[in-house]
Amino acid sequence: MTTEHNWAGNLVYRQERLERPTEVHALQEIVAAASSVRALGSRHSFNDIADTTGTLVSLEKLPSDIRVDGAGRTVSVSGAVRYGELAAELQRQGFALANLASLPHISVAGAVATATHGSGNRNGNLATAVAAIEFVTASGDLRTVRRGEDADFGGMVVNLGALGIMTRLTLDIERSFAVRQDVYTDLPWARVLGNFEEITGAAYSVSLFTDWAGDTVNQAWLKFRTSADDGAPAAEAFSGGTRAEEPLHPVPGMSSVNCTQQLGVPGPWSDRLAHFRLAFTPSSGAELQSEYLVGSEHSRAAIDAVRSLAPKLAPLLQISEIRTMAADRLWLSSNYGRSGIGLHFTWKPLQRDVEAFLPELESSLAPFAARPHWGKLFTGQAGPLERLYPRLADFRALADDWDPQGKFRNGFLERTVFAHLPGVLSGSHGPSARRRWPRWARSGGCAARGGTRGRRRPGAW
Ligand SMILES: Cc1cc2nc3c(=O)[nH]c(=O)nc-3n(C[C@H](O)[C@H](O)[C@H](O)COP(=O)(O)OP(=O)(O)OC[C@H]3O[C@@H](n4cnc5c(N)ncnc54)[C@H](O)[C@@H]3O)c2cc1C
Repeated sequence: MTTEHNWAGNLVYRQERLERPTEVHALQEIVAAASSVRALGSRHSFNDIADTTGTLVSLEKLPSDIRVDGAGRTVSVSGAVRYGELAAELQRQGFALANLASLPHISVAGAVATATHGSGNRNGNLATAVAAIEFVTASGDLRTVRRGEDADFGGMVVNLGALGIMTRLTLDIERSFAVRQDVYTDLPWARVLGNFEEITGAAYSVSLFTDWAGDTVNQAWLKFRTSADDGAPAAEAFSGGTRAEEPLHPVPGMSSVNCTQQLGVPGPWSDRLAHFRLAFTPSSGAELQSEYLVGSEHSRAAIDAVRSLAPKLAPLLQISEIRTMAADRLWLSSNYGRSGIGLHFTWKPLQRDVEAFLPELESSLAPFAARPHWGKLFTGQAGPLERLYPRLADFRALADDWDPQGKFRNGFLERTVFAHLPGVLSGSHGPSARRRWPRWARSGGCAARGGTRGRRRPGAW
């Protein structure tokens, strides 16, 4: 057995075996026979959410297919399909997804499971496009759930891999559209904070890149929906920032060849909504990431709180990105019940130093009920997840119902969702269980417990 690790290389998976079934029937048999099993997506998460000491299952050898239903405005994809492949096929057939994350390299299933998002005041995260999911359940049976039919559908989408293995997902689509991407540099913070909603609402998708130092935001990326023949030059200035005259990478000093077309050249959504191109390394490639999502009402205060940490961030940070997302009703979504902003941190690959700093960062964001991104590094100091996710107890009940033996559980889920303490929460949920939370879980830190233990590479989470 070769060593298997995540994309960032900061986590060695602890699996006993890695299975790559070539047909769904074989996958069903693997799951039915396993006592502990987790699905592996494209491995782009930075923490142990996909890890297991039992069986890891990759769907990459299952037949891959993309079925477009133009009349019904949906597309159905098999479990390992990546957004880059899907976007290209949809565009070829004249259709589009509403949004993409910064990179097209991730699997649809893995992204949906963690509430992965792009940006846009009116855009929900990627999981909000899900209309139906086919699972291989704990018993090895196939079960399909559909929006509007299953009462608990809102709990089944952002599922952290806890309900089963997703073998097909059906997503909403729309007619293809063109996008142009204009980049501005050095926007004064005073202007950005003074007109925050206007700036983030100035285009279909807006990203602000900052190192938090100084008086200006490094870059603003504005992705406009437009017509394919839009030849209008971009305004020379935007909110005090200057139009970039050459393509830029968000990480200072990196080549823009990895990035999607900028300079206002219109083209297909599939080549513009993500920041990075499928054939190239996304982001810096040697990095760790964290992200915290706060409600819109706290945008300015949360940004101020992070800016006050700028001197401490400087030695650890490559770049930060601020994005916006619309509210949704998916129980474990970072945007459940509230629109808000994501405060994202691309760290240098300094695991121990980042790990040492995160509690301070999380404490500074705790007053804003910051929800950590499920797929990135966090310690739980942001606050007890029970308080941050009002439907967490309902999700525990759902997971217990779907997976009574806990075969899809892993260390990550025990810490964050089930808080597996003897006689406390495992297998119990609801208001009475909530009253029995131990002191450390009520005051934060649940994800930190055990979070750095296990047979990981030295220094890795
Ligand atoms: C360079 C880079 C850029 C990123 N940019 C963004 C961004 O713009 N926005 C954002 O929100 N996030 C971003 N992320 C984070 C990333 O989107 C999430 O970590 C996402 O979950 C990764 O998907 P994956 O396919 O790699 O899943 P994995 O990391 O492999 O798995 C994630 C979870 O999904 C589960 N899972 C995977 N496949 C299945 C399946 N078939 N059935 C059931 N469960 C499954 C796994 O068990 C695990 O719990 C970025 C990450 C990187 C490395």
